[in-house]
Amino acid sequence: MAKYNGPKCRQCRREGMKLFLKGERCHTEKCAIEKRNFPPGQHGKDRKPKIVGYGLQLREKQKARRYYGVLEGQFRNLFEKANKMKGVTGEVMLGLLERRLDNVIYRMGLGTSRSSARQVVRHGHVNVNGKRLNIPSYTVRPNDIVEIRESAKNNSNILQSRDATAHQPTPPWLEMDREALKGRIIGIPKREDLVQIQLNEQLIVELYSK
Ligand code: SF4
Repeated sequence: MAKYNGPKCRQCRREGMKLFLKGERCHTEKCAIEKRNFPPGQHGKDRKPKIVGYGLQLREKQKARRYYGVLEGQFRNLFEKANKMKGVTGEVMLGLLERRLDNVIYRMGLGTSRSSARQVVRHGHVNVNGKRLNIPSYTVRPNDIVEIRESAKNNSNILQSRDATAHQPTPPWLEMDREALKGRIIGIPKREDLVQIQLNEQLIVELYSK
């Protein structure tokens, strides 16, 4: 499936929840979910379709994909990987999504949204264990050190993001030195660490297990 280049807020309205795709705006009253929480389109306001079965599973998968900004093929591969790993597949899959390098940069507050965090990675501003890494889908492991490279430490976008997200709590699986723009992965994200993600991952597992 091709990359979606349309309005981001439309994706949130389709899923009926905030996916936090636009950084600071998502926390203000300008958020489209605050103002128009009904599906997009001419008849979005009038129609109240009852979604069941396959539709429900599909929506849940789309929600997860859009939340993390992952394309269909990548998402499927990630599911297959999770399926081969030990543990509850849905939870393992969420853990893998959380450990993507672009998501880690987002959780560290060095990008106000996942897409801006991805850009930080793509532009080569990030070191993992002392080596430059510009692959947003890279899966970090416990004890990995993720930091902004010396050459980008004065990057105004990164510094602004850090200051704007100062209120954002650091997840329990991550240790963060905000001043040094550096973090360490101290564990594997567990489902209970991801309570803010309103997703029923079991439905995604059912969808892909057909
Ligand atoms: Fe979604 Fe953010 Fe737009 Fe709100 S402002 S609808 S959370 S992308």
